[in-house]
Amino acid sequence: MMKNNGKQLHILFFPFMAQGHTIPMLDIANLFASRGHRATIVTTPLNEPSIRRSVEKFNDRVSSEIATRVINFPTLEEAGLPEGCENMDFITSRNLCDELVPNFFRATTLLRPQLESLMEECKPDCLVADSFFPWSTAAAAEKFGIPRLIFNGMGFFAMSVLASLSASEKVCSDGEEFLVQGIPDRIFLTRRQLPEAEREEDEFLVGLFGEMKESESKSFGVIFNCFYELEPTYADYYRNQLGRRAWHIGPVSLGSSNRGSKNRGNDDQECLKWLDTKDPDSVIYICFGSMVNFGAAQLKEIAEGLESSGQHFIWVVRKNPGDPNEDWLPEGFEERTAGRGLIIRGWAPQVRILEHEAIGGFLTHCGWNSTLEAVSAGVPLVAWPVQAEQFLNEKLVTEVAKIGASVGVKEGAVYGGIVGREQIEKAVRRVMVGEEGEEMRRRVKELAAMAAQAVEEGGSSYSDFDDLIGEIQSESC
Ligand code: UDP
Repeated sequence: MMKNNGKQLHILFFPFMAQGHTIPMLDIANLFASRGHRATIVTTPLNEPSIRRSVEKFNDRVSSEIATRVINFPTLEEAGLPEGCENMDFITSRNLCDELVPNFFRATTLLRPQLESLMEECKPDCLVADSFFPWSTAAAAEKFGIPRLIFNGMGFFAMSVLASLSASEKVCSDGEEFLVQGIPDRIFLTRRQLPEAEREEDEFLVGLFGEMKESESKSFGVIFNCFYELEPTYADYYRNQLGRRAWHIGPVSLGSSNRGSKNRGNDDQECLKWLDTKDPDSVIYICFGSMVNFGAAQLKEIAEGLESSGQHFIWVVRKNPGDPNEDWLPEGFEERTAGRGLIIRGWAPQVRILEHEAIGGFLTHCGWNSTLEAVSAGVPLVAWPVQAEQFLNEKLVTEVAKIGASVGVKEGAVYGGIVGREQIEKAVRRVMVGEEGEEMRRRVKELAAMAAQAVEEGGSSYSDFDDLIGEIQSESC
């Protein structure tokens, strides 16, 4: 429902070029447009077609049109990036990280003059930029005198932990657990579970994340894709104890007209039809987001673990392209699990799958979007974090909200360990079978109801979004 008290705003959105960042930012743009404000998405040529497709779907439904504007990505000569590298998913899915990630981030800084001339031309009231573009603070706030909001795709729990890590904690020996000081609960982590930049192993990432923190402290505030009821003590801690400006406006996938819907009408997607044939809460969905891929040895362990768990499953497989071993399924696996399991090679309609009543669990890498999508759909999680802030999300899920079981991964994937079939089977069964799983399911369904309420008029996220709009409006008077 459109609601637009006061001045119509024009917001410029500058999403980071990776699915996990672009998807929620498009949903945020859609949210502004659904309240009658103008939204323009800034993107680059290779990323534009997929963004335009999403925006076209939004525009059928929102009251104020969302536009896209294309700026050119630096050429090979300027940026040292081969063709196709306009997107971080492209780089990670081909395991080109070590060589190309620094070049990619440097390339984005070369976009600054084009972003500035676009701002000169559009005269937006506010810039919403991904935290991976720390340089855009200068472009927005200082030069044009407009507020700049940061979107970093994390929740309050993860942000609070990261803000509370002290230097002494970071130098702990690799495998030894330390207690995160200052935060509301007793949370233990090891250094090898921290995001890459916090481990201080890579000079480039340390520098980048330093700039990001600095830029965030100079911004107007942070937009959170989350809802208060999921992590209330951490939302309060982040704002009141750490003194940061923040607005929680999610789960944005619930407000989005483009995502999951329980009334999906004549949906012809095979996997959804397959789910229609299954009992409620009887299928586990397995997906590791848009970037993580595993080698043949790990995939084989997952297959064995799933088979011996005895559960129905939908498994989204993205194999490491650098692994020459093509032979990743145990012999006869597909025959033995026929009718019981479905493998998707490629992109799955995740939100729709999660919202299907047959789904009873989600084995996930704990990316923040996936975590929140599971919570919104009332699906308990099996947590298998891999990198970035995913170990922190695992702690929220398993120890704070108690809506999932851990597979028991001890360290980030960069250290190369393989998770065994028994570990996988055990964690899957904890969630899918028995009383402990039922209790998690009951709790997550309660949270799902709260999430749905949060985005309704009068709900916590709806009200915080109202406040945010009001603050931008008063800045733009
Ligand atoms: N996603 C999807 N289909 C897939 C894989 C991922 O729709 O096959 C979506 C998923 O719903 C989520 C996003 O991609 O919105 C992944 O974001 P997340 O933060 O979970 O992980 P990332 O990809 O950033 O590691």
